[in-house]
Amino acid sequence: MACRQSGLQMTPLREAAVSELWRAERPLTAYELLARLSEIAGRNLGPPTVYRLLDTLCQHGIARRIESLNAYVACHRREHDHECIFLLCQECGGATEIEDNGLERLLRKQAETAGFEMTRRVVEVSGVCAPCRTAVDSDGA
Ligand SMILES: [Zn+2]
Ligand SMILES: [Zn+2]
Repeated sequence: MACRQSGLQMTPLREAAVSELWRAERPLTAYELLARLSEIAGRNLGPPTVYRLLDTLCQHGIARRIESLNAYVACHRREHDHECIFLLCQECGGATEIEDNGLERLLRKQAETAGFEMTRRVVEVSGVCAPCRTAVDSDGA
């Protein structure tokens, strides 16, 4: 599993957090995850626990934070190091991860040309996903 590559020890709580993020149909906020994990653990976890947990998962590339939604998803391409690009549906709230090394290279090159040292970059695209578009199309005749 990806955890092996990332070198992260998977505790039951970490396992539970990852599977909840996988199961969710859209990104989860820290508080949504907190509620789900408290239920699974059978005790009330504190926000610091969940934030620490999410930090760890993000550091290892297992989860990613969606800045514009202030929510988290499980990364779909954990097998190699990469920057995630997210397509965010404003209808259903779903997040789809895509990978585009061309865009990544372009950003790095542009930053380099500008003499800018890139430490972090976020690419999040808002719009309407294919299933939602289909639903809208068949609604409006
Ligand atoms: Zn990713
Ligand atoms: Zn959608």
